[in-house]
Amino acid sequence: MKIAVIGTGYVGLVTGTCLAETGNNVICVDVNEAKVHKMQHGEIPIYEPGLDVLFHRNIAQKRLTFTTDLAAGIKDAQIIFMALPTPPGGDGAADLSYILGAAKDISKLVTDYKVIVNKSTVPVGTADKVQAVFTENTSVEIDVVSNPEFLREGVAVDDFMKPDRVVIGTSSEKAKKLMSELYGPYVRQGNPILFMDERSSELTKYAANSFLATKITFMNEVANLCEIVGADVDAVRRGIGSDERIGKRFLFPGIGYGGSCFPKDVQALAKSADEHKYNFKLLKAVMDVNEKQKTVLVDKLLKYYKGDLKGKHFALWGLAFKPETDDIREAPALYIIDELLKNGATVTTFDPEGMANVKALLGDKIEYAEDQYAALKGADALLIATEWSVFRNPDFEKMEETLTNKVVFDGRNLYDLQKMVDLGYYYNSVGRKLID
Ligand code: NAD
Repeated sequence: MKIAVIGTGYVGLVTGTCLAETGNNVICVDVNEAKVHKMQHGEIPIYEPGLDVLFHRNIAQKRLTFTTDLAAGIKDAQIIFMALPTPPGGDGAADLSYILGAAKDISKLVTDYKVIVNKSTVPVGTADKVQAVFTENTSVEIDVVSNPEFLREGVAVDDFMKPDRVVIGTSSEKAKKLMSELYGPYVRQGNPILFMDERSSELTKYAANSFLATKITFMNEVANLCEIVGADVDAVRRGIGSDERIGKRFLFPGIGYGGSCFPKDVQALAKSADEHKYNFKLLKAVMDVNEKQKTVLVDKLLKYYKGDLKGKHFALWGLAFKPETDDIREAPALYIIDELLKNGATVTTFDPEGMANVKALLGDKIEYAEDQYAALKGADALLIATEWSVFRNPDFEKMEETLTNKVVFDGRNLYDLQKMVDLGYYYNSVGRKLID
């Protein structure tokens, strides 16, 4: 099939590349000229494990091309995917200007039947709004389909190639047939393509992300309580996770959820409910708790240093909002850095993939180390904000050579408590016994 993908971010580029991988001809369109130039020259603008092999192969086999020219990009496409940003607007509701703007531009260019697929995360009713834009600007027949994306950054290629499910919201039989053909190769193992109406499909995505954010937040509260009552969150986690109704995944406490999706999607769903005069109290509590959870590591530091961080120097391992990505949007580490600087401390950080993005944001407000051990030089304590694998089993002897004090504040519970006792560390993690 001939496909156009508008927007080549984490979702668009993975979608375009993975659709090319099954033999489709894909043209990716983006307004960011520098980005398109890079991709035209074989350079991937994001870090996503496994994407490079597929990206280079499909470019070489001429199934994957890039352009800034929307007209050329969509001319022959049967299906046009929109993978555009839907950031929070000032009031927390999703800003649909990218989607509706692109829909308007496309509507003025179409000359034959197209399926317009919305891959972005959007509130209920967006498909109708997009359809209205087309009706206003063209008499050409088009179908608007909602096809939310569930990929996770860090394992996005796998998630796209073997999705747990594909959700397709459409009331058009013609569009349904084309979408089934397109997605067939990805669900050969038997995972379902779930067809539904557009509104249910749009809500499915928000409900999924909000549920996951709630699950994390629930465990964060359990962890906070564990610290107060002297229980161990790891034991509680295993205890509840072995119940199949609860499940083992997504039960790890930490320093608040971040990233480009959960914060904005929870907020947008709560706002969307408000607009329909429904008070989604649970989500409001989730947002409140998450805001507070972002402060737990700094609160612990302030307590340890008796409220005075001035002149202290900290090593921070981890910047990305989670491992295996360079995405730092809404990363808890950014909040921690901000608070440390406000309190007069200095920071040297290391992250395997996230440093360039943080450097672009914060410049020389903090220092960037070549590796995780170099980051420890002269540090009063080590803080851990992201659970990258390389931090899980470090060379503790090497750490001692550079770390001024054996003090670790771990927001991701990476180390065994007994090991930290044996090594003689002060070790403060989340929802577990304090080792001091
Ligand atoms: P992103 O910010 O990484 O990428 C968006 C891209 O769109 C950028 O390259 C930007 O230059 C481009 N763009 C903006 N306006 C354009 C226009 N008019 N024409 C062409 N290109 C344009 O965003 P993302 O993380 O890929 O997210 C896209 C959507 O998918 C959002 O709604 C998000 O909520 C949703 N989503 C994201 C993820 C994720 O893990 N990142 C997962 C599932 C769903």
